[in-house]
Amino acid sequence: MSTLTDLTQRMASGEVEIVDLTHTLDPDFPVIILPPEFGQCARFRMEEVSAYDHRGPAWKWHNISMSEHTGTHFDAPVHWISGRDVPNGAVDEIPAEKLVGPVVVIDCSEGSAQDDDFELTPEIIEAWEAEHGRIPEDAWVLMRTDWSKRRGADYLNMREDGPHSPGPTPDAMRLLAEERNIRGFGTETVGTDAGQGAHYTPPYPAHFILHGAGKLGLQCLANLDQLPATGAILIAPPLKIRNGTGSPLRVLALVEK
Ligand code: MN
Repeated sequence: MSTLTDLTQRMASGEVEIVDLTHTLDPDFPVIILPPEFGQCARFRMEEVSAYDHRGPAWKWHNISMSEHTGTHFDAPVHWISGRDVPNGAVDEIPAEKLVGPVVVIDCSEGSAQDDDFELTPEIIEAWEAEHGRIPEDAWVLMRTDWSKRRGADYLNMREDGPHSPGPTPDAMRLLAEERNIRGFGTETVGTDAGQGAHYTPPYPAHFILHGAGKLGLQCLANLDQLPATGAILIAPPLKIRNGTGSPLRVLALVEK
């Protein structure tokens, strides 16, 4: 039997399950808030064009608008200044074979429940590898924090000194991007960086180091608690926006039961 016939049969029988890692795109979903001197990310908006009425008697449709970085979304290398000259660094230029591939999940949910500023460190990555094996080259690495279960103001978790949410340290990102040569890094929070990521050197190390190395980002992911540590396949194709820096998208995982 061919590999794909085998796969479709296992999907039909439920031996291979599809897990949706995507939040619903609606106007209430929080977007990142930058200090007021900077341009801001737009929330999702939807206006009705017609709804089986005089504006279009047999059809219903909407016009929509949003930022490239609204909702569950993809970050391309050109999103960051460190990646501005990376070849094929815009969403429309990323090779299609980078949009489907292996994924591993590092579970940081316990630590993140206790500490809003929980850090993913090289020590945690190495402990994960001692249990699950070395992170494969060209794999997506997702940081599970269960942050996607938060609602309302708790999601951005804004305080007087800015947002507080978990994320990776600069050394963790160097290990993943430079030594493990991963494909990309994804989180459940509003960005790939910690809420307080501006205070690291370099600031926003996930963005700076990942994109500088031509790697990809995913954020606002959900349901990471339904993924195994290893062995799943991630399907994450952004919209093909010319010179786009990112895109909302539907993120799916194939998981063997
Ligand atoms: Mn983004």
